[in-house]
Order: sequence, then structure tokens, then C-alpha cells
Amino acid sequence: MPQYKVAIVGAGPAGYFAAQALQNLQSDQISFTIDMIERLPTPWGLVRSGVAPDHPKIKTVSKVFEKIAKTEGFSLYGNVELGSDVTLDVLKEKYDAVVIATGSATGKKLGISGEDLPGSISAADFVPWYNGHPDFANFKLNLDCDTAIVIGAGNVAMDVARMLALEPAELDETDTALHAIEVLRNSKIRKVVISARRGPEHAAFTSPELRDLPKLEHTNVFMNPADIAAAIERAGEEPEKEVRNNLEAMRLISELEQGKHARTMEFQFLCTPTEFRGNGKVEEVVFTTSAGEEKVVKAGLVITAIGYEAEPIAGIPYEKGKVLNTDGRVGENLYVVGWAKRGPSGVIGTNKSDAADVMNLLIADLKEPKPALDLPSLITTNKVISQGHWESINAAEIAAGEPHGKPRIKAVSREDLLRLGGL
Ligand code: NAP
Repeated sequence: MPQYKVAIVGAGPAGYFAAQALQNLQSDQISFTIDMIERLPTPWGLVRSGVAPDHPKIKTVSKVFEKIAKTEGFSLYGNVELGSDVTLDVLKEKYDAVVIATGSATGKKLGISGEDLPGSISAADFVPWYNGHPDFANFKLNLDCDTAIVIGAGNVAMDVARMLALEPAELDETDTALHAIEVLRNSKIRKVVISARRGPEHAAFTSPELRDLPKLEHTNVFMNPADIAAAIERAGEEPEKEVRNNLEAMRLISELEQGKHARTMEFQFLCTPTEFRGNGKVEEVVFTTSAGEEKVVKAGLVITAIGYEAEPIAGIPYEKGKVLNTDGRVGENLYVVGWAKRGPSGVIGTNKSDAADVMNLLIADLKEPKPALDLPSLITTNKVISQGHWESINAAEIAAGEPHGKPRIKAVSREDLLRLGGL
């Protein structure tokens, strides 16, 4: 029976679902050994460093990832960076197929004046910081102001706004990085404005996330009833299901009783940001309204959450922030899945069917299997995190969280992670 060797680069949801698809497609005729290469000492990608810590249910998909990782023929090679520790050329030469699953981690820019002032940051920095991503451990955030503005009307903007507007004690029972809990506890921010350039009927939030907002116990959530009524009017008699569900969830939010809490999350619609102004730091944001008028909102912090682009990897063609591909095919024995393939859209589960489609193409392209290989001999670092090492890290983090009622306390620095892994 031919056994093929597939390297998957990136241990996030798309990478795991690609591995799962290959495992599911094994038969008496074909089998796979799967080597998953990840530049961090920890796997799970956005499930560890993207999903908001106050939404732990979404993280339960990690159980699926661990099952995939324990299936015969699967190996994890963490703390191995493509380009420096092993090259793409070597992987392509030695493996029957290479799958890029490296996501898109760079925040898009608005490209307006004042965007680079201190106090203007991207969700692409804020989110991994509060989630304890090693590369963002030293990110400095100043929450010494009353009002923050989050630009964008997607689920990332919503996560970011919630994290800023929650009563910090609500984070005590989450796996939010300890350094972030400390900073958020001292935050002076009491009002967070989520700003959308289009109307409520065009917002990219999904309705489960909207329906969660009224459940916030210590935060006022404000949507102007007139904004929602106008959007329902504009959406007409038969809006698409998602739009209808969103507008219904927004209508309920707009009818919430106001003013009980010290912290407020407020939505503004139909406001396009045109300039960030301030003396050496952000002090106000200038918007143009749908009526063409200027609206100025005072704020000491602005977080843009307007989408992501993929960080280019040498040797792979990119276009518009994505890997250039046709249905996931990039070139000779090279494939791409997930956000690196289709851009930063869809929920975690979207990657399942997407990766399965690409793996079917990959299998259709296979030729004679290449000779057996020994990946460790091709890797230049000796600090490789195996599945066993990762399980030690995982167990240590969970054990550290237990006495504090937290699902885990994340180790943040690479050194600590390697130490917990026994390296
Ligand atoms: P997104 O859903 O694409 O939303 C991006 C938002 O940024 C849109 O409202 C967009 O408005 C706005 N935007 C883009 N360019 C802009 C500009 N130049 N000026 C002003 N606004 C601009 O992206 P995301 O929030 O980064 O989320 C990425 C994916 O992850 C989404 O599929 C999301 O659902 C998913 N996600 C899911 C969850 C969850 O399930 N809980 C949590 C987080 C993320 P326009 O529509 O006007 O372009």
C-alpha cells in the first residue's frame, strides 16, 4: 500500500482540519504520514492566540485537534520556523506534498493621516497580547484614557471591544494572559465605541455574538434604536437570513435599558474614519457621516479591526494578502488552506470543508510516493517541540490554572514554554 508523506506548515485550525481530512481519506489503497510544522512552541493557532478568552466554548475544538494529533502517522514539530529552521525547497523535495496553513496575522491599515500616532494600534497586536502569544509579550498598551474607539464591524472588533469594556474581574476565570489581566484591571477606559463605516444591515458581526451582548453583566450596551429602525427599513421585506437575524439581535440590543453600569459599549454606524488627530498621541478621531458631515469623537485609544493580510513567506507567491492559488493549488506539490488561501473570513469550522476540498485535490495530484525521510535530520534547531513535549506544556498550564479557577495559566515566553516542555 503506498504511503505518502505530507508536511503541513502551521498548527492552527486549517492545518489540523487538513490533517484530519487526510486521515479520513486513508483506505486500504492509500495512507499518509503527516508532519505538522509550527513556528511557535505551542499548537492550535487562533484557538490559543485569537479566540477571545471570555468565549471558552469556542476553544473546545482543541479536543478535536488533540485527537487528530494522537492518530497514528501524525507528528508535531513545534518551535520550527519555515525559512530559518527548515526550508520550503527541502520540504518540497522530500515530501510528496506540502500544505501551507499559516493564516493571516498582519492587521490591515486604514491608510489615513494620524494612523501611526501612539495610541493607535491594530487588533492584530492587541488580540495576541491578551492571549499570551510569545511575540507580543512586550507589547505596551496605555489604557489611561476614558474612551476607546474600535474601528470595524466584524467579530474581531466585537471581541476587542468586549475585552476593553468588561469588568476586569470577569476575566479572572479565563485564560487571559496574566500580564493583560493586570493592565486591564488598571484600565481607566469606561466607554468603548465600535464604529462601522456602513449601516447595521451591512455589519459583519454574526448573530450569536450579537445575541451574547445583552448577557454582559457589568457593561451597558448601547445601539441607537433609530439607527436600527432605519436599517430594518433599508433592508426591505425579505433580507437574507443572516441580515434578518443580525437586525433582530440588534433591535433587542437597542431596546435594552441603559445606564446601570460604569462601563459602556456603544455602536456607531455610517461613520467613515478620515483622520486620527492629536498632539504626539491620539486624542480624537475624525469621521465623515453618511450625510457628508464631519463628526469628531474624543478618544485616547483607537484599535483598528478591519481585517488581516498574510505575512509573505519566501518562495510562495502572494496577491492581495493571500497566497496566490487556484482552489488551494499553489504549484508543483504545494497547496494552501485556511486564511492564507481564502483570506481572513469564516469561523473556525469553515476550515473543515475548505481543507477537505483541497486535500481531495492533493490526493488526485499524487504520483509515486517519494522515499522515506527523517524530518529531524533536515531541521537545524535541536529545540523541537514534539506532541509529547506539548502535552507536558498543556498539562502544566492546566495544573497552574486549577487552584485559581482558570482553565489554564498560559506560559508566555518561549523560554518558559520550552522549559515546561522539558527542553
Ligand atoms: P470581518 O468580519 O471581515 O470584518 C471586518 C470589518 O472591517 C467590516 O465591518 C468591514 O467593513 C470593516 N472594514 C474593512 N476595511 C475598512 C476600512 N478601510 N474602514 C472602515 N472599516 C473597514 O473581519 P474580522 O472581524 O477581522 O473577522 C475575521 C473572520 O473571523 C470573520 O469571518 C469573523 O466572523 C471571524 N471571527 C469569528 C469569531 C467568532 O465566531 N466568535 C470571532 C472573531 C472572528 P465593510 O463591510 O464595510 O468592508
